[in-house]
Amino acid sequence: MNLKAELNQKQYIAASTIDGPLLIIAGAGSGKTRVITFRIAHMLEMGIPQSQILALTFTNKAAREMAERVRELTGKKLPQLTVSTFHAFGVKVLRDTISSIGYKDNFSIYDTVDQISLLKESAREIRFDMEDENPQNILGIFSRIKTKRGDWDEVTSYYQGLYASYQRHLKLYNAVDFDDLIMLPIHILDTHPEILNRYTERYRYIMVDEFQDTSMGQYRFMKLLADGSRNICVVGDDDQSIYSWRGANYENIISFERDYPELKEVKLEQNYRSTETILEAANTLIANNTNRKGKQLWTGTKSMNKIEIAYPANERDEAQFIAEQIKGIHMRDSIKFGEFGVLIRTNTLSRAIEELFLMENIPYKMSGGTSFYQRKEIKDMICYMRILANPEDDVSLLRILNVPRRGIGARTLEQLRSLADMHDWSLHTAIQAAVYATDSPFSERAKTDLRSFLQLIEAFRPKILSPRKIASTLKELTDAIDYWEYLLQEHPKDEKIPTWKWRNIEIFIQSIEDYEKNPDNMNPSLFNYLNRISLTTKDEPDDDEGKVNLMTIHSAKGLEHEVVFLAGVESHIIPHARAIEDDPANIEEERRLFYVAITRAKQRLIMTSCRSRKVLREEMECLPSPFLEELPQHLLQETEAAADVEAAEATDYFQLLRKKLGGV
Ligand code: ATP
Ligand code: MG
Repeated sequence: MNLKAELNQKQYIAASTIDGPLLIIAGAGSGKTRVITFRIAHMLEMGIPQSQILALTFTNKAAREMAERVRELTGKKLPQLTVSTFHAFGVKVLRDTISSIGYKDNFSIYDTVDQISLLKESAREIRFDMEDENPQNILGIFSRIKTKRGDWDEVTSYYQGLYASYQRHLKLYNAVDFDDLIMLPIHILDTHPEILNRYTERYRYIMVDEFQDTSMGQYRFMKLLADGSRNICVVGDDDQSIYSWRGANYENIISFERDYPELKEVKLEQNYRSTETILEAANTLIANNTNRKGKQLWTGTKSMNKIEIAYPANERDEAQFIAEQIKGIHMRDSIKFGEFGVLIRTNTLSRAIEELFLMENIPYKMSGGTSFYQRKEIKDMICYMRILANPEDDVSLLRILNVPRRGIGARTLEQLRSLADMHDWSLHTAIQAAVYATDSPFSERAKTDLRSFLQLIEAFRPKILSPRKIASTLKELTDAIDYWEYLLQEHPKDEKIPTWKWRNIEIFIQSIEDYEKNPDNMNPSLFNYLNRISLTTKDEPDDDEGKVNLMTIHSAKGLEHEVVFLAGVESHIIPHARAIEDDPANIEEERRLFYVAITRAKQRLIMTSCRSRKVLREEMECLPSPFLEELPQHLLQETEAAADVEAAEATDYFQLLRKKLGGV
């Protein structure tokens, strides 16, 4: 590898300065991620052991791509190199150290759906009235408390008892939530000097991509690890900070300057991604933000196209327009489907576009939406797997105890719960006591039902835990519980739904099999698999290059596409009405989002702004986003979006989706 040939001079300095703290703040497309990748490859070439290198990225996809690129550059396998997200790295640390704080290493990781169930369980136990509560809000408060972004105050202290119960149950079920993946490792490292020492000895070279979006917790985590060697390189762009609602804070850049006063700083100023037109539009827009480190950014790429803007009559015409444009450009300019990005501000905007894509046979994948893994049938399977991995996991147990129906009635469940509460047991332990204790107060019928459930778990546990037996055991399990029959019973009116759901399960099992067969997965185990999917809840299993990328702007961060569509460029959508209501200062964050969206485009950027849109079944008049006026008008060109009568005809969305999944 010839580093100097692959990088410009500033990038070269950034990639070859490996000792001491390094700060790289630079605009979109200036090669920040590329620098990290080459920096790692360079270190390896210099003979730094792979195990000493830790690179932290924002998404799993980014981590996979970076690791892959480094392998290509070095021609080595690199099993000891750690490139991962903060959360995945948190899991890794917890796996090795969580026993130091009284958990078992087969812990479950709870997503929002699980957290809500847990919250309800916790409320039930302490008789907290949830009637008029919004669980999401409560979880938001808990998250702020846990990540130390807030303190109990007059409003929130009402939930203190509930929080204590929630925390107690998490531990009882040997489960952690997402915030724990960062906060528990910090706690362990803070309180166990010998463990901290082990980590700082091991990771001597640390890099963080998308630094502007690290949370305060993630910053502390990083700092603890880096304080041994102080070889820490962070790269980011303050103009792309778009997660402040999740507690990310680009003041981390200021903290970094304070905590590492000896740092070197490198600025990258050449953009290699976009044309002049796109870059000028982005630069002009973002200059309207006051709260920023000003930057220079130039490109040598001449423009062929202006930025296009179309004003379709409604969201159906918008979808039609996008679909037609994609087909046209795909055919005319032979641009592969995978080179198109269609960006939306919120998930709800995807539906009309997905319908058209399905109708027009445009292959696509949606990311940032409801995850494949959260579909009911898949979640059921996952809960079975979790119970097999960690029998104390009551949230999963409650979910599947009567799926399929086992006749375990409400009364029995109440009895089990009071038994568990009384002894501070998990339900699994309570069931064991109910079945096997000599003085068990449970009825014979209840005991029989519970025993057969326990036997099921006991029979499948050793199977699924043996090497490379996850997929085959799961398949056997779905047959043993006759999940197909259950689906038929649940959906007596429409036999297509069971077929479709069953098909999803087959896809799921197939993806597990692929995981088990993949030689790159050094250690395929049930535990590792479950972690992996709980961390990729936003990605669907397939990662097909031949598909149009439909995604939210948030999930497009760091990515690039030849042609980018930005849909719903309307006031109330971007800037988002809610963001503005909460705090007018949020307009700057919305502008950064718009900046991120624009800067994903390499060659062409095509925006659409509907004149009306259906919101909750009501037709609403829409105005173009005020951000459009902030763009230099000579860079824009209006494109006609013709209405299409055919498209207005009703379509059966689910039928189309089934067609896509190949079911029926
Ligand atoms: P973002 O802020 O969006 O994350 P970034 O700063 O991380 O962007 P990269 O994704 O690393 O930018 O680079 C943008 C594009 O420019 C990539 O396709 C990359 O390969 C290319 N690129 C960057 N530097 C060079 C270079 N010196 N020579 C050739 N291509 C380059
Ligand atoms: Mg990047």
